[in-house]
Amino acid sequence: MSTLRFQAIKETLNRKAVKIDEPGRRSDIFGKNVFNETVMRQFLTKEAYNNVLEAMRTGKKIERSVADHISTGMKEWAISKGVTHYTHWFQPLTGATAEKHDSFFEPLGEGLAIEKFGGGQLVQQEPDASSFPSGGIRNTFEARGYTAWDPTSPAFIWGTTLCIPTVFVSYTGEALDNKTPLLRALQAVDHAATDVAKYFDKNVKKVNATLGWEQEYFLIDSALVASRPDITLTGRTLLGHSPAKGQQLDDHYFGSIPSRAISFMMDLEIECMRLGIPVKTRHNEVAPNQFELAPIFEEANLAVDHNSLIMDVMKKVGERHNLSVLMHEKPFAGINGSGKHNNWSLATDTGVNLLSPGSTPMKNLQFLTFFVNTIKAVYDHEELLRAAIASASNDHRLGANEAPPAILSVFIGTQLTKVLDELEKVTDGKLSPQEKTDLKLNVVGKIPEILLDNTDRNRTSPFAFTGNKWEFRAVGSLANCAGAMTVLNSIVAKQLKQFKAEVDKLIKDKKMKKDDAIFNVLREYIKKSKKIRFEGNNYSEEWEKEAKKRGLSNNRTTPNALKAQVSKSTIKLYEDLEVMNKTEIEARHEIELEEYAMRIQIEGRVLGDIARNHIIPTAIKYQNILIRNVRGLKDIYGEEFPRYAKEQLEIIESISAHIATINSKVNAMIEARKVANKIEDVEEKAFAYCDDVKPFFDEIRYHCDKLELLVDDEVWPLTKYRELLFTR
Ligand code: ADP
Ligand code: MG
Repeated sequence: MSTLRFQAIKETLNRKAVKIDEPGRRSDIFGKNVFNETVMRQFLTKEAYNNVLEAMRTGKKIERSVADHISTGMKEWAISKGVTHYTHWFQPLTGATAEKHDSFFEPLGEGLAIEKFGGGQLVQQEPDASSFPSGGIRNTFEARGYTAWDPTSPAFIWGTTLCIPTVFVSYTGEALDNKTPLLRALQAVDHAATDVAKYFDKNVKKVNATLGWEQEYFLIDSALVASRPDITLTGRTLLGHSPAKGQQLDDHYFGSIPSRAISFMMDLEIECMRLGIPVKTRHNEVAPNQFELAPIFEEANLAVDHNSLIMDVMKKVGERHNLSVLMHEKPFAGINGSGKHNNWSLATDTGVNLLSPGSTPMKNLQFLTFFVNTIKAVYDHEELLRAAIASASNDHRLGANEAPPAILSVFIGTQLTKVLDELEKVTDGKLSPQEKTDLKLNVVGKIPEILLDNTDRNRTSPFAFTGNKWEFRAVGSLANCAGAMTVLNSIVAKQLKQFKAEVDKLIKDKKMKKDDAIFNVLREYIKKSKKIRFEGNNYSEEWEKEAKKRGLSNNRTTPNALKAQVSKSTIKLYEDLEVMNKTEIEARHEIELEEYAMRIQIEGRVLGDIARNHIIPTAIKYQNILIRNVRGLKDIYGEEFPRYAKEQLEIIESISAHIATINSKVNAMIEARKVANKIEDVEEKAFAYCDDVKPFFDEIRYHCDKLELLVDDEVWPLTKYRELLFTR
C-alpha cells in the first residue's frame, strides 16, 4: 500500500498544467450548445416557436401536433452539431442527475436507415428507471414512472448527446424527482408574490424567483485520491492526522490560483459558456486546494438545473486534468468545509427586484413588504428550512465540532434593524397624515442610502440579507439546490398569501387605506418574528444558549432535523400550496432517512476495513522493526539494554495499546451495525446509525491518527493530509 502512496505522490509531482486555448471571445460561444430562442427561431416554424415561448412564459401545454414540429427542429439542429443520441435528463431523488441515451438512428429495412425523433419522444418517455428511490410510491416490479419535458429549461448538447430537461413522476402523478416539487413551489410563489406586487404596480403579471448559487469544492489529484480508499468510496477522509500547516496562515484564500487549477477552471468555464451557464467568478477558498465558482443569477428552476449540470460537468472536466473534484461538505477534518450559498430573490416580469430598495417611498414599502414577509416565513418554518439542508455529509458542517450550530437565524444588519425598530412603533389602526409623512421621509425614504453603507456583512449567519437578496448559506456543497429552493419558495408563498389576506381584511373591514393596512400588518410581523433575528456571532456558545432561550430549534443531526419534513404544519403547508401531497412528503422523508443510514453504513464499513486491514498490519510491521531493534540492543548490552531501549519499549507498548483499542472498537462498531441492520423501521434505523454506530468513527480515528504519528513514515500506507493538500 505504501508503494501506492509514494507512486501517487510521484505521479502528482510530475503532472503539468494542461494547456487550454480560448476559443475566441467567450460571448461568441455563449449558449452555442443550447436550444435557445435564437436557435428556435432558426429551426422551428413560427407556430412551434410561439408555442414553446408561451409554454416557457406561462406554462401553457404544448399540443402533440406542435410537439412533432418542435422535435423535428430540435433534431435537425442537434444533428447539425454532430449529435447522435438524445436523452431525457432528470434529477431523481439520489441527488445526482440521470440520463438514458437513445440513438436518433432508426433502420428502415433493406439496408436503409434514417434519423428519427418524434414529438412523443420529446414530450414523454418511460425509462426503465425502477431502481431509483421512490419511498414506496412505485412498486419496483411495476416500474411505472415516466419523464416529461420541462420546456422552461432549454434542451442542451453535452458531448454528442441532446439532453432534454424533464420531470420524473409516477403514473399516479406523484413526484419522483427534485424538479417537480420545485416547479410547483415556484408556481405557488409566483401567484402569491404577483398578488402582493399588484398593491404596488398593477402591471405585474408574473414573479420569478431568482437564484445565484456559489459552489465550493476541493481539487485533489486523481492519483492521490485513488490512493485513499476512504475518499474514493465516501468522498471524504475518514482518518488522517492534521498536517503541521493547515489553513491558519490564510495564505490560500483569494491567493493566486495554482496553475493546474486555473487550467481546470478555464476548461470548465469554456464548457459552461457553450452550455449557457453564465459563470462569472472563480477564486481560491479558505482551505488549501479549496475553490469557489459562481454564476450570475438566473430564474430559479434554470439555476437549479445549471447547478446540477455543472456538478456533473466539473467531474468530467476534472478527469481531463487528472483532478478529482470533491464536493463533499467536509472532505478533511480540521480545515474548512464546503458549502453552496443560495442567493435568492424575487423579480417581476416588469423587471423589478422585489428585494431591492427603490428610489421612492412607495418602492421602499414594496421592498419592506417582501423583506419582512421573508423574515416571518423563515421564523415560522425555521425547522423545515433546517430539514431542507440536512444530510449525512452536511452534518459535519452544521452542529458538529469545528462547525457553526444547526440553528437557523436571520441577519439583516444594524441599519435595517433600526428601520424595523421604527416600524414596530407604528400606530395601531389608521395612521395620522403627520405620522405617514414622517415615516415616508425618515424611515422608508432613507433605505437606499442606508443600504449603501450596509457593509457589515455577518459571515457567520446562515441566512443573511446582503443588500438586494437573501443569502441562504447553510446549504451543503453536495446538495441539489432544489431541496432548499422548494422549501424557501413554498414558505414565502404561504406567507405572502397570508399577508394579502390580512391586508385585504383591514382594507375591507376597517376601511383602512392600503398603505395603512400594510404598515399595520408589517408591524405585527416584525414583532412576531423578532426571535429569528440575530446579528451577533453565530459560532459562539452564547448564541446556542440564547437561541435555546428563544425557543429556536437546534437539530444537530439529520434524523432529528428530518422530523420537521413530516410535521403537521409541513404537510398542511405543502398540501395547501399543492407542492406535495402527504404520500409524496412521507416518501421523501423515508428516502432521506434511508440514504442517511446507508451513508453511515458505508462509512462504517470503509473505516473498519482501513483500520483493520491497513492500519493495524502497518503498526505491527513497524512494531516488529522496533522489537528487532530492542533484541539487538539486548544482544549488545545484555542486562543494561533497557537504558538504551527505553523509548523503543515505550513506543512498542503504545502501539499495542492503540491496536487493542482500534480492534475492540471496530468489533463493537460491527456489532452496533448488526443491531441497526435488523431494525425494520426506517427512522429508528437512521437513529441507530446516528447514535450507536457513528460515535465509533471519532474514537477509531483518534487511535489511527495517533499511530500515524508513531509509525515510520516510509511504511505508512495512506497518503497523508499534507500530501493530499499540498502536492500539486
Ligand atoms: P458575495 O455574496 O460573494 O459578496 P455578490 O453579492 O456579488 O457576491 O453575489 C453573489 C451571488 O449572488 C452571485 O451568484 C449573484 O449572481 C447572486 N445574486 C445577485 N443578485 C441576485 C438576485 N437578485 N437574485 C439571486 N441571486 C443574486
Ligand atoms: Mg456569498
